Amino acid sequence: MLYLECQEHDPPIRASKPSGRTVYELPKIRAMVAQREYWIAEYEATHREAPSAVELERFFGQYDLNTVVFLQAHPRCRIRLADNEGNHYDGS
Ligand SMILES: [Zn+2]
Repeated sequence: MLYLECQEHDPPIRASKPSGRTVYELPKIRAMVAQREYWIAEYEATHREAPSAVELERFFGQYDLNTVVFLQAHPRCRIRLADNEGNHYDGS
């Protein structure tokens, strides 16, 4: 599993929920990090219309929802990714 980490903290803050399963999903996750203003706005607009967690997950998909929720809490932080084996990957 891949998790976002905020590097503005020491040690970095790791997301509690994964953003993807494998490294093949890194490009998509990095694109979301790069365009986080857009995704955060999408999330907030959707959240206003459909506030239930089930509907949000249906709209974004489980992993993308996890990504955008973490990005909303870290709108300007340096982000990297980590997996369960202790590997780290650039966030952009
Ligand atoms: Zn942060």
